[in-house]
Amino acid sequence: FFGGVFMKCGVERNVRVVIRVRPGKSEEDNCCTVSRNTVQIAGERGEKRLTFDKVLPLDTTQEQLFQIVGVPTVNHVVDGYHGTVLVYGQTGSGKTHTMLGPNGGKPSCLDEGHADFADRGLIPRVGAEMFERLGRIAGVWTVNASFYEIYQDKVRDLMDTSSGALQVVGDKSNVRIIGLTSMPIKSAADMLGLLRYGGKHRAKRSTESNDYSSRSHAIIQLVVHQKLRDGREMNSKLNLVDLAGSERLSKTGAQGVAAQEGANINQSLSVLGQVIHQLCRSHEHVSFRNSVLTRVLQDSLGGNHVTTLICNISPLKENASESNSTLQFANYAKQIKCHTTKNVVLSPTELQTRLDAALEEIERL
Ligand code: ADP
Ligand code: MG
Repeated sequence: FFGGVFMKCGVERNVRVVIRVRPGKSEEDNCCTVSRNTVQIAGERGEKRLTFDKVLPLDTTQEQLFQIVGVPTVNHVVDGYHGTVLVYGQTGSGKTHTMLGPNGGKPSCLDEGHADFADRGLIPRVGAEMFERLGRIAGVWTVNASFYEIYQDKVRDLMDTSSGALQVVGDKSNVRIIGLTSMPIKSAADMLGLLRYGGKHRAKRSTESNDYSSRSHAIIQLVVHQKLRDGREMNSKLNLVDLAGSERLSKTGAQGVAAQEGANINQSLSVLGQVIHQLCRSHEHVSFRNSVLTRVLQDSLGGNHVTTLICNISPLKENASESNSTLQFANYAKQIKCHTTKNVVLSPTELQTRLDAALEEIERL
């Protein structure tokens, strides 16, 4: 599907990092202040001040977050670029709130008739925006959706739980998950249906083990194919990722992201920390292959994706050390550069024109 000839017209972009501060209890319990795009945390070891592409204060609405992160992402994907949005942060910092909606993304926030729908998160909004935009293109399109999670380094299809752990194959930009359900969807309502259906399987698992939902990563992938009336064809992908809780990483301190080991931590999240560290230091070898999460996100981090990382923090004093470590992670991530190209499949006529031009040039030499 992604084979064929792609147009090379690269743009170098940094991973865009957006910090979202969730609401706390009361003013005096907070240790975190936001002014413009700077966030400041007063901790035991003094104050830390960091600046990011965007810092969203605690009164930021879901709609505002969607305008800042969702709309530009949909624009890129409809333009033919691959896009990724990831949300990182400790358990309880509002990752699922940001991506799906309130109260752990419970089904009511995906029900158009329910009051909670007003507070729905980024994924349902991005879905609606995508179909709205595709509805206006001069051409035909298809969208295929997958919903899966990674738990203890295994891929589980949330649309077909009978399939067991799925195998990840391929490398670089060609990573695939064998047997993963890919469902054609046609509307915002289909997207809500997919989220409800897959969400049910997540919820069931989280009752089986206490910290299940904070140790699993949930990923929605949309694959968009557009065939425009002018003959151009574009294939682009969008990954929307609700990562596992990062709190275990904080135990080893800010530098520890690169040195985590052991059975009782989320191995894939610590590999993600290592990978981000290596990418921003321009290491020659990046340990993408050390976890399933980093394998499936290989292209989103330092590859051909327009990527936004949302880092959620709690403003509470009691969470200062976790918030600090999240900001440290965010600070590394903002240095990562992705070389993005439009994924246009050239038509035979266009290829012929280019070939003719090249031959002419050779003759002139
Ligand atoms: P996480 O997925 O990071 O563990 P959740 O999204 O489950 O955290 O958030 C924990 C609780 O806090 C949920 O009930 C959620 O609705 C609430 N919450 C999180 N962020 C916000 C926010 N920005 N505004 C209002 N409530 C929030
Ligand atoms: Mg969650």
